[in-house]
Amino acid sequence: MSNIETKCLHAGYEQADATTKAHAAPLYRTTSYRFDSTEHANNLFTLKELGNIYTRLMNPTTDILEQRVAALDGGAAALGLASGTSAAFYSIINLAQKGDEIVSANNLYGGTYTQFNDILPSMGIKVNFVDPLDPQNFEKAITANTKAVYCEVVGNPLLDLVDLEAIGDIAHSHGIPLIVDATFSTPALCRPLEHNADIVVHSLTKWLGGHGAIIGGIVVDSGKFDWTTGKHPLLSDPEPSYWNTSFANDLGDLSPLAYILRMRLIPLRNLGACISPDNAWQAIQGIETLPLRMERHSFNGIETAKFLQNHPKVEWVRHPSLPGDDCYELAQKYMPHGSGGMVVFGIRGGAEAGRKFIENLNLFSHLANVGDARSLAIHPASTTHSQLSEEQQLNARITPDLVRLSVGLEHIDDIKKDIDEALSSI
Ligand SMILES: *Cc1c(COP(=O)(O)O)cnc(C)c1O
Repeated sequence: MSNIETKCLHAGYEQADATTKAHAAPLYRTTSYRFDSTEHANNLFTLKELGNIYTRLMNPTTDILEQRVAALDGGAAALGLASGTSAAFYSIINLAQKGDEIVSANNLYGGTYTQFNDILPSMGIKVNFVDPLDPQNFEKAITANTKAVYCEVVGNPLLDLVDLEAIGDIAHSHGIPLIVDATFSTPALCRPLEHNADIVVHSLTKWLGGHGAIIGGIVVDSGKFDWTTGKHPLLSDPEPSYWNTSFANDLGDLSPLAYILRMRLIPLRNLGACISPDNAWQAIQGIETLPLRMERHSFNGIETAKFLQNHPKVEWVRHPSLPGDDCYELAQKYMPHGSGGMVVFGIRGGAEAGRKFIENLNLFSHLANVGDARSLAIHPASTTHSQLSEEQQLNARITPDLVRLSVGLEHIDDIKKDIDEALSSI
């Protein structure tokens, strides 16, 4: 089962359920699980045996999802969470605490940016933001207190790609892991663990779920990072709430699970952002067709970008696979089979034209999401970033003419026709 198409359909649920022989992944709607005996109960609570206790901690449906996504990314283990936002948060607080620092790319998804800019500092975790396009900026911002480097495969809003391998080398030379949000690429297009990343964060809400119907997130760990050096006391120090176990040092054969097991037993158990089994099940359904969908999203994305490039009402267009794009070389390296359905462009006539364009789309839905099976469009300056001053908008590279498309799975001719009609209304 070495190919991703096969893993998407089978990993984590290779045999039918032993009791029911259910062929499709079953949905277990249960809060808790009966113990066989008091000894069994004690073994589960004392980690002598791994097994189901309570759905905030683990669930058999979520377990299939976790095994499947871990297999897709080539990781040792994964943890499903309530949202991509909680996945980003837990990935940090599982290795950093008050007094620690993170170095992060500055072109993050808006919600993650706010979390890193406002919430983490309020908890005493300082985040140093850098322009990720020059990997040396990470080197310059790392201090003795830095616990991790964080970036996204495809950045916001201009779809910039970063050089994962160069950034990973820098992180590793300081004994710290590289955490990568791969929501925009998915394991079908880019697997950061194959390019020097140690931990991957996904929002399941977007292309993995794929149908704009659920909220979910997941963290995947390679199992290869060395947590025993003392650089990450949260993992190596004795854990008081687990009989002074050191996750990094005391797990024996299970030590590749240290980071994910700690995330399950400490942040997830005690802060509680678990994914519902229903949403985990929906994500599993989405993942079954992920490679097919990403192929079509990528085809429709690049075809839409080429169409826009030749359109008289369009000033500029960006898609990482568009020849001549600033990120074309990186896209060829990290996403050689296509770079997805996100397209951004500048419309002639600025903000007013942008608004008019959005209003005259019919097939594209106007809403704040990406990664739906259906095509979506938004004009950031008048919506997601409208609370920013003009100067702040320009700092964030939200120009008044910027239009963002999340190109869906419709027929490319219908997509082009809808865009063309909306552009000609300007
Ligand atoms: C949507 C998104 C998130 C947040 O995920 P939610 O599931 O909406 O919480 C994080 N990172 C990226 C890149 C996203 O697109």
